[in-house]
Amino acid sequence: MTKSKNPKKDSIVRPSVKEAEAAVRTLIAWAGDNPDREGLIETPKRVVNAYREFFQGYDEDPEEILGKTFEEVGGYDDMVLLKDMRVESHCEHHMVPIIGKAHIAYIPNKKVVGISKIARLLDVFSKRLQTQETMTAQIADTINKVLKPKGVAILVDAKHQCMTTRGIHKINTTTITKRMLGSFKTDPEMERKFLTMINLNSDQC
Ligand SMILES: [Zn+2]
Repeated sequence: MTKSKNPKKDSIVRPSVKEAEAAVRTLIAWAGDNPDREGLIETPKRVVNAYREFFQGYDEDPEEILGKTFEEVGGYDDMVLLKDMRVESHCEHHMVPIIGKAHIAYIPNKKVVGISKIARLLDVFSKRLQTQETMTAQIADTINKVLKPKGVAILVDAKHQCMTTRGIHKINTTTITKRMLGSFKTDPEMERKFLTMINLNSDQC
């Protein structure tokens, strides 16, 4: 039994690996197959390991990731934009993949953060059970809270397998969510600038 590092989840006691594997066996049997046949015997172990990877975001503190900042930026005060970052998450309603892209920008207020830290922040929130709306808001709000920038902009464009491979089977539907804070919210020109910059390669979305 281990406790999660996610403060909001501190009350949750995680089942053991053995218990998680037993749950996978139950699902296999429920689907109608024999969990003891050769091809499936190791599957619970593999699924649990995959889950460890899919949901590793629960073990990381998003605010800590942005903690180290730099103030020597040569007077740079324009937009910092990370474009076309791959998003791999899981929808909290069906536990199936959400796959897409995220574009995240901020306007520094004296301090910047290593750009890879923004990508890690995306991973921390995406490697959890999510809705796209919540994830989008959490990422923007964390950057805003920790860096206190002049503005934050995020746009996530993703396909939900709960819509493409089950239910209504709308295979080409993508969902777009965005959140604008600070100058991206108050100045429509800034939002337009952000949207124009990320649309330069809109064919890749
Ligand atoms: Zn879903």
